[in-house]
This record gives sequence, C-alpha cells and structure tokens, in this order.
Amino acid sequence: MKEINITLPDNTTKSFSSGITPQDVADSIGSGLARAVVVAKVNGLLRDLNHKIHEDSTLELFTGDTPEGHDTLLHSTAHLMAQAVKELFPDVKITIGPTIENGFYYDFDLDQSFSDEILEKIENKMKELAKLKQEIVRHEVSTGEAVDIFSKLGEPYKVEIIEQINPDDTITMYKQSSFTDLCRGPHVSNTSKIKHFKLLSTSGAYWRGDEKNKMLQRIYGTVFSTKDALKTHLHNIEEAKKRDHRKLGKELKLFTFDDEVGPGLPLWLPNGAVIVEELENLAKEYEKNGGYDLVRTPHLTKGVLYEKSGHLDHYKESMYPAMDVDGTEYYVKPMNCPHHHKIYAALPKSYRDLPVRLAEYGTCYRYEKSGQLFGLMRVRSLQMNDAHIYCTKEQFKNEFLAVCNMYLKYFEIFGIERYSMRLSLHSAEELGKKYVDEPELWLETEKWVREALIEGGLDFEEVLGEAAFYGPKIDVQVWSAIGKEFTLATNQVDFAVPSKFNLNYIDEDGESKTPLCIHRAPLGTHERFIGFLIEHFGGDFPLWLAPVQAVVLPLSDKFTDYAKLVVNSLIADGLRVKLNDRADKIGSKIRQAELEKINYMLIVGEKESNDGTVSIRKRFVGDLGVENLDEFKQKLIDEIKNRRLAHRKKTATETE
Ligand SMILES: [Zn+2]
Ligand SMILES: [Zn+2]
Repeated sequence: MKEINITLPDNTTKSFSSGITPQDVADSIGSGLARAVVVAKVNGLLRDLNHKIHEDSTLELFTGDTPEGHDTLLHSTAHLMAQAVKELFPDVKITIGPTIENGFYYDFDLDQSFSDEILEKIENKMKELAKLKQEIVRHEVSTGEAVDIFSKLGEPYKVEIIEQINPDDTITMYKQSSFTDLCRGPHVSNTSKIKHFKLLSTSGAYWRGDEKNKMLQRIYGTVFSTKDALKTHLHNIEEAKKRDHRKLGKELKLFTFDDEVGPGLPLWLPNGAVIVEELENLAKEYEKNGGYDLVRTPHLTKGVLYEKSGHLDHYKESMYPAMDVDGTEYYVKPMNCPHHHKIYAALPKSYRDLPVRLAEYGTCYRYEKSGQLFGLMRVRSLQMNDAHIYCTKEQFKNEFLAVCNMYLKYFEIFGIERYSMRLSLHSAEELGKKYVDEPELWLETEKWVREALIEGGLDFEEVLGEAAFYGPKIDVQVWSAIGKEFTLATNQVDFAVPSKFNLNYIDEDGESKTPLCIHRAPLGTHERFIGFLIEHFGGDFPLWLAPVQAVVLPLSDKFTDYAKLVVNSLIADGLRVKLNDRADKIGSKIRQAELEKINYMLIVGEKESNDGTVSIRKRFVGDLGVENLDEFKQKLIDEIKNRRLAHRKKTATETE
C-alpha cells in the first residue's frame, strides 16, 4: 500500500499508509490525545477525524478546548439533541441548529412545547445515545438526491433549505445510526466524544425569524470539553441571569414596554430617565469640550431627502412605511445623517469654518421584525449619540484621533476593560460595485484611520472587504464585567455622501471643495448602551448614574424633621435623595435600601440630629461612621463630579 507523509505543526513528519485518518494519527501519538481530539485541519482545511488522507499532508489536531474544537463539539451536540428529540417525538420536524457563542440551539416544529421535565428527558436520551458510540459519517449527495432523502424522511424544512441552494452544488449530510442531518460539518467522528453537555432553556422562534411563519420550539444547550469548564460556564450563566437587563430593568423600575404603545418602543420610567439624562450630560460635556455644536432635527422628513441619501434604495425595509401628508410622502427618520448634512449646507462655509462638528441625541425609528426585538438591545425607537464631523483632508487624521480618544475616555469612565476594534477596509476588486470608485481616496483615508488608531494606542484588527459603501469603518465591541459581548457602535468615514448633498467649502485659493465626513456614535444608542450598563454594573450603578443616590433613614418618627432637613439640604445641592420615614424597624429599611441598590444610607437619630451629622452606610462597604452633614455632602459631590466608579461586588470572573 502507498505510504504518505504527515507533517505535524511542530514540523515532525511521520509516515503512514494511505487512507489513514486524523484519529489514527492521534491514536499513534498517545491515548490522552486520542480521547481529547475532536477535529482536524488537513492541509489547512477543517476535516472530520474519520476523513481519509491519501496524499502527503500537513495535519493539525484540535482538542475540545480550542475554538475550532469547541465549535465542532457544540455543533455535534446540536445534532445529538435533534436525534434525541426525534427518537422521543417521532412526529417532530427538524429545522436548523446553529452554534452561537458558547452554545447551540435547534429549532423544532412540534405542537407540544418543551417543559423542564421534557428537557430533562431529552438530556437523558442524549446521554444514552452518546454512550452508544455511534459513528458519525459524512455523505456527499446532489441537491436532487438530498431533496429525495429529506422528503422520504418527512422533513419539509430541510427540503425548503435545499431548494434554495444552487442546484449544481454538492450537499453534505451527516448520519449517526438512523438520524440524518443536512450539514456542512465538520463533526466529531463518534458520539462518545460528546460528554459534558447541558440543555439550558427553551423559547419560541419563528421559522426564519419571520412572524408570518410558523412558531417553532427552540432548545438552547451547551457543551464543553471538561466537567470543570462546563461548571464554570453554568455559573457564569447564573450570574448573567441575575444581571439580565430586562429583569433588573423591571426590579429597579428603569423602563417598561406597553402593549398599547407597541413592541420595541421603550418607555423610560423616572429611574431610567435619570440614567438617560446623565448619559446625555456626559456626552454633551465631552462634545462641548471637543468643539462640537449641538443641533436639533425633526422626527419627520419628506421622502425626497431619503431618495437623495440613498436610504430609500438601500435601507427601505428597515424604515417605517411612508405617511401621506397633503399629497407628499413623509417618513419617520431612520438616521440623522441627512439632516445634519442639510444643516451643514444651510450656510456657506469657508476653510476657516472647518472642522464643523454637529452633535445631536437624535431619535430614530427603525422597523425591526417583531421576532428580532429584544429588551433594550433591539428596539424600534432609538436615541443615538450621533454626530457628524465635516473636515478637510488635512484635518481628517486629527479629527479621527480625537474621536478615538473619546471612545477611550468613555471606556475608562465606565470601567470597560475589554474592548475590540475592527477596522473594515475596502477590497480593490469591488471598486465601482460594492464600493465607491475612488481608489486613491480609499487608500488615503484607510491609511489615516490606521495611523490615528496606532497613535491613539488602540488595539485593532483589520478586515478586508467589510467597509461601508462610502468609506472605511470601525466596529467597536465591548465586554461587560462578566464577559458578555456587546456590539457598541460604529465609526465611519464617508467620502461619497458629501458630494451627493453638494456639501462644500471655499478653500484658501477661493476654490470650492468637498469636505470629508465622519459619522460617529461612541455611546451608541441610549437603549442599547443602558442595556449594556445595567448588565455591566449588575444594577449597581456608580453614584453619578444612580437613580437614587442616597436614602435618609430616621431611627424613629421623633427624628423625621431632622431627616427632612438632611434630604432638603442634599437635594438643594443637586443630589438625588429619598426619605424613608415609614414606621418599619431600621433593619428592614436597610434591607429595603439594599434591594433597591441605593449607594448610601444615611441613618439619623438623637445624636445625629443634635450634632448636625449623619451616620453613613455605603453599599458593599458597610458602616463608615458618623460625619458632619456638610463635609459628607461635599464628598458625595466630588464622587459624582469625577464620575468615580462605585465599589462593585466582585464578579465571578474577577475573583477567579
Ligand atoms: Zn452539523
Ligand atoms: Zn451618520
């Protein structure tokens, strides 16, 4: 039999007979690796462990704790779950089962909804099936054959998916025992490799996310390569549940949704409105210092503006339908950009006026499918921390750098320690198609953006072919204190729209020129950013953001007058303070304040009212002793003015 050479990542080469599989190679290295390996790369391509190799190749083996290995485990466990559901409910129709970050889900068409009890049954069935050591085998078929196979299996959703694939493509399927799924792979080679899994939750989900389609039953689950890794993950999930912005938003009375107002249209309750207001103050303060001018624009606009901006061509499905006003079409605005361009154009500009920086917390409306709506993260009305900077080419780099520095400053204020920036560039082949045909301008602006990022000391990665139509952009992702990822904002360069809107300025030689435009929104939208902050802080907001900063607790009603005096004195200096003069015992008032996550409790009795002092309890810190009211007030004012981060409870990831 033919001999072939397998080269491993450490550059050692071993010789094997042709037809060897990655699993065989792992077996030859050691029993530990043989058990732990889940997927391989053969000549740089991800392959199943039972993929036969017939020629000299490079080989990389991945265990379940690598990103490649983990994804393979997750995907394979989704199949195992579908197999288990199919065995328990033979009438079920299977649909799709993708992997998500640290998990997977699978959507099933079944009239019965999955209870916790059923979930446990499915999990037990999966354990049984895993132990059967079923081999998982890949098959390639034509689309026609695939349609036949899934029609015979009575799986209409799979047939629908295949019918949308190019008929000349080859379809791959994975089979374990009698269960077949449509899948690109790769998968683990044997169900015995799937060990440490857990089914987590269920939800309803429309087929293809479209509410006109049938409601399916979704099951979420996860799997890890070791028992400990699974345990840590389950712990983090519990912590994330406690911090869920929808749950805390209700408990802390921050926002609500109302059926008669409409889905995706949040109502900010007084406590939430405080946070909104503080964020706006922060943004306005930094924008003022950064030389921005504030502007205001209407919520309604004629359709012609969106024809000019291109929104009606490219963005219509995300816009609310037009309304007819005296025979003219008007839209609620999905973005603020065209309005700011109009403000720029309202008065003639010379080079001396540039840069022009126009900022607005502008309210926009976007039509998100109801299946896509999610708490504050996906909404239909949103207030954006928007601004547009119009500048000359010479000014561009400094302007961009200033925007980057604003991001960094905000990260510091909110204690965001982990973030990533992705610089999306154009690709030369798609100039004039996917990208504005300005080859030199692309290269120039990309170079300036890159230089600004490097000078600003920001970590970033570059991706080719992901830019916006009209210029390079930066996508910013942040991670909350417990490691949950959020897409925060994009920061875009625009060299196409200014000329579409005939924006210009007179340069030093009296010539008319087109400015560059930067779209930026470092705090994203109120909705998404506050959703993030609720989870990031676990509802324990730093003093400057806290809806209620202190509560005054009189020891008995004898001291209510003094307590009121304390409250009024603090309110007069702009602090947000409440009085709890109910007849409850002091211990229960303290517990109540703890539940409401109030930063300071000021306890007043005989001694305090005689001396003009307060007895202070700080959340997470405890007793701070007695202090003169005015001195303590000054400390609070300093803590707020400097936007200090509060003492926070250590999170699981921080303590480990
Ligand atoms: Zn699969
Ligand atoms: Zn814009």
